[in-house]
Amino acid sequence: MMLATAHPRPVANPATLPTITDVLAAQSRLDGVVVRTPVGEYAELDRATDAAIVVKHENQQRTGAFKARGASNLLLSMSDAERARGVVAYSTGNHAQGVAYAARLTGTACTIVMPDDPNPVKLRAVLDLGADVLLHGATFDDARARATDLAHESGARLVGAANEPAIIAGVGTLYLELFQQAPGLDALVVPVGGGSGAAAAGLVAAAVAPYTEVIGVQSAASPAAHDSWHSGELVERPNTTRAEGLAVGCGFEVTQALMREHLTDVVLVSDDEIAAAQRLYLTGAHTVAEGAGAAALAAVLADPGRFAGRRVGVVCTGGNASSDELLRALT
Ligand SMILES: *Cc1c(COP(=O)(O)O)cnc(C)c1O
Repeated sequence: MMLATAHPRPVANPATLPTITDVLAAQSRLDGVVVRTPVGEYAELDRATDAAIVVKHENQQRTGAFKARGASNLLLSMSDAERARGVVAYSTGNHAQGVAYAARLTGTACTIVMPDDPNPVKLRAVLDLGADVLLHGATFDDARARATDLAHESGARLVGAANEPAIIAGVGTLYLELFQQAPGLDALVVPVGGGSGAAAAGLVAAAVAPYTEVIGVQSAASPAAHDSWHSGELVERPNTTRAEGLAVGCGFEVTQALMREHLTDVVLVSDDEIAAAQRLYLTGAHTVAEGAGAAALAAVLADPGRFAGRRVGVVCTGGNASSDELLRALT
């Protein structure tokens, strides 16, 4: 007998969950479409963490973030008839750039709804990719409501950032690469917004690196995915982090189902700890991370007892930082 619960639980139908087979198909589809990004090891990062850190540089991916992988896989998987109706997405930035990139690649009409006052770097990049941009509402969640209406009215495909199996499969290609480039990781730390990255990491690790524990990290100022994972329910939470890629206010069914199956923990860091990790990336690895891109390194710095002496992968998920953000990280 089913008991009524106060909140929906993350019990996605297994038939809708992507598998490692879908990730392998995505890898063929994305050949030549996205970059096989490098990994780097840096003495300064090892010294600061007391661990052996391997950075996966998705800040060097097309569009400056890993989102190009998932969106390209999804749009390349659509039929010509579906693509002819266009796509709509809502985003604080990097998902928008990923979808706009994939739309240009496939010749698909694309409208992006962003919250008012977007990161100017990300707004300009989306416009440069040829997408139409609509600014609406104060937060990601307002933009989502408007995009949903727009897709309903126009018949365009709404491309969500989280409950999309084809996006998770596309993002999984990042982790296939990483486990080939850096075998033998003891742990892998992945920043979490909607959870596609962490879901993909867990799925791929379970298949090809079962002894690597996968840990998600979110900002304490936007803890919805963290709280959903720990409570086993899909919860809504305040959403005030400065790290745009982590600014999501609720848990999602598909990503939470995979995260619950495959992650060993989800942790929180503060926005100030994220800024300190951005600074360490700049000075110690000579690489630009946006806030979300530095969250995994922040999680390692925040918990030396857990990571000391271990070989730890951290995904630098994106590098689209505004100059204001970089100035704040350096002061
Ligand atoms: C989107 C994003 C994240 C979070 O990824 P999810 O798949 O939404 O959990 C982390 N870092 C960057 C740079 C992002 O753009």
